Amino acid sequence: MAFEGLTERLQKTFNNLRRKGKVTEADLRDTMREIRLALLEADVNFQVVKQFVKTVRDQAVGSDVLDGLNPAQQIIKLVNDELVKTMGSEDAPLNKSDHIPTIIMMTGLQGAGKTTTTGKLALKLKNEQNARPLLIAADVYRPAAVDQLVQVGQRIDVPVYEEGTSANPVDIVKRGLEVARENHNDYVFIDTAGRLQIDEALMQELADIKALAHPDEILLVVDAMTGQNAVNTAEGFNEKLDITGIVLTKLDGDTRGGAALSIRAVTGKPIKLVGQGEKMEDLDVFHPDRMASRILGMGDMLTLIEKTQRDVDEKQAAEMADKIRENTFDFNDFVDQLVQVQNMGPMEDIMKMIPGMANNPAMKNMNVNPKDIEHTKAIIYSMTAAEREDPDILNPSRRRRIAAGSGQPVVEVNRMIKQFNQMKKMMNQMSKGNFNGMEGMLGS
Ligand code: GDP
Repeated sequence: MAFEGLTERLQKTFNNLRRKGKVTEADLRDTMREIRLALLEADVNFQVVKQFVKTVRDQAVGSDVLDGLNPAQQIIKLVNDELVKTMGSEDAPLNKSDHIPTIIMMTGLQGAGKTTTTGKLALKLKNEQNARPLLIAADVYRPAAVDQLVQVGQRIDVPVYEEGTSANPVDIVKRGLEVARENHNDYVFIDTAGRLQIDEALMQELADIKALAHPDEILLVVDAMTGQNAVNTAEGFNEKLDITGIVLTKLDGDTRGGAALSIRAVTGKPIKLVGQGEKMEDLDVFHPDRMASRILGMGDMLTLIEKTQRDVDEKQAAEMADKIRENTFDFNDFVDQLVQVQNMGPMEDIMKMIPGMANNPAMKNMNVNPKDIEHTKAIIYSMTAAEREDPDILNPSRRRRIAAGSGQPVVEVNRMIKQFNQMKKMMNQMSKGNFNGMEGMLGS
């Protein structure tokens, strides 16, 4: 999980500080040294760390926090505020042209996630603004790159303009833009070529495309896992292209956090979006304040709430509530619920967005295995329609048949049915305002 080490170290530092009734100047010095080391270890740019520590220290001394009430809390607040500031303070919305199409040029090194992000962003605009994007395949050096974009287009049902790999990229972009104007597409994404590292020829080609297309947005896609290399890449691209924003991908991985914390300060350009998974839906707006909370282990409730709202169909949720009240919740509903939970992403990631959970020791032992969900689904799919609708008819011989059909031992089938019945009972009681049934859920 991203930022894990940094969060742990900062929390340890703050816990030490909280334990002291009175914070002395020496304590402050120790704390600042710890923060400095934690940031350096998280691969944050050296200059950024220096500035960060200096600002927090100056503010702590200047505002007399040591003499005030609850100095530890106030120092944590200063650190939080400085984290937010370092990552850009405000959200940075995407540029939008006042006439169509808005042109978004996607750039980045090979493997950073440029093509995937192009698809994710086109889908996001389609879902949120009813946009009608066109994707232009301008990476002619890797035959697979054109195919990949075409596949992405098919997945999200968005047209792709491509001319294979023999034409000149600038010409392809020119003709692609004509097609977009004819078809009144409101967004155009130009998927440009990537290289393993920055080189002159690539930069010249990108500069030529920029000069022709006059993009409203030049997004640089960088891989958060590459730490300071991502920052150096961003500096290089920005120097040549004057980019307008950054997309940080793979924040779902266990990046130490250096890129997220350095890139804005070093390049002066905002992080606009973050990629947090391989699915097309896994692209989120970057909020510096929420990211700071996440780094400090205070959870990211707002993103969690948004994720739930996005992934859970409200109508379905209301129907489910009715079924629970009427005690007609059956295995078909149960499987629907499982699929919804699965769609939200790994359970550990979801739990970590809840305040206090990120570093809760209980989390270390919590291992929600996606395979368990798959086994449960296999058991339910091995039931007949009648059994799914009426779990009461599940006698031993039916259970044996289900076990054989699902490839699971009978004890697993029994355990799952028992859990289902307990859950159903508990949910029904809770819907009547009786919370005593909770214990049933815990003992299985
Ligand atoms: P490109 O060469 O820059 O176009 O990179 P691709 O779009 O082909 O992505 C390279 C790999 O990174 C693919 O396997 C993607 O699925 C993966 N990827 C892209 N974004 C993310 C992300 O946010 N999280 C994760 N886990 N993987 C990502």
